[in-house]
Amino acid sequence: MMDERRRMVQDLMERGYIKSEAVRRAMERVPREEFVPEDEMHRAYMDMPLPIGEGQTISAPHMVAMIAEILDLEPGMKVLEIGTGCGYNAAVIAEIIGPEGHLYTVERIGILYERARKKLRSLGYDNITVIHGDGSQGFADEAPYSRIYVTAAAPYIPDPLMKQLEIGGKLLIPVGSDKFYQELVLIERTSADDYRSRNLGGVAFVPLIGKHGWKFH
Ligand code: SAM
Repeated sequence: MMDERRRMVQDLMERGYIKSEAVRRAMERVPREEFVPEDEMHRAYMDMPLPIGEGQTISAPHMVAMIAEILDLEPGMKVLEIGTGCGYNAAVIAEIIGPEGHLYTVERIGILYERARKKLRSLGYDNITVIHGDGSQGFADEAPYSRIYVTAAAPYIPDPLMKQLEIGGKLLIPVGSDKFYQELVLIERTSADDYRSRNLGGVAFVPLIGKHGWKFH
C-alpha cells in the first residue's frame, strides 16, 4: 500500500495538483485505505471518489490535494471543515497544520460522524475534533478560524461561515444549483466588513444539506 500511495502522490505532482512540499508530505503520510470501506480498499489509491455509505463519498485524491494547496495552510492554524465524511481530507489538513494547529470538522450524518471520530482517534490525530451537527451554520464555539473549507456544495455562501472567518482568513466552498457542476469559490476576509471573492472553476460535490444549505434529504 505504501508503494501505491507513493505512486499516487508522484502522479498528483506530475499532473500539477500537488505543488508544495507540505502537501506532498501530508498525502504521503495519510493511509487512504484506512478511510474507505473494506470492499473498496483495492481502489484506495485510484484518483477517484469512492462510496463510503449513506449515499456519501470520499473525495478524489486530486480534489483533496487541490483544496490543501488553495488553502495555503501554515503550521499552527485553526481550521474548520464542513463535511467530515470518512475523515480522510481532515487527516491530510491536520498533517499540514501540525500539533500546534487544530482542525474542527462537522458532519451531519450520525453514522459517518461516529465512524470518522473513531478512525481519526485510532490513527492518533489528537489535533482533530469531530462534531456532529449542521455545518452550514459553522461552529461558532471555536470561531474565528484562519481557514474554513466546505466539502459539500451549497446553494449560496452561508453567512455564518463568512462571520466565523478571522480577518485575513480564507473560506473555500463549492457553490451552485446544479447537481453535477458547481463553482469553487475562494473568499478572503480583508477587514471586519470586506470580503474579496474569486472563482476557481468547475467542480462536482454532493449537496450541503442544512439551514444554510439545501433543504431536501
Ligand atoms: N471530506 C470528505 C473526505 O475526506 O473525502 C468528503 C466529504 S463528502 C464529499 C461530503 C460530506 O458532507 C458528507 O459526508 C455529507 O454527509 C456532509 N454534509 C452535507 N451537508 C452537511 C452539513 N450541513 N453539515 C455537515 N456535513 C454535511
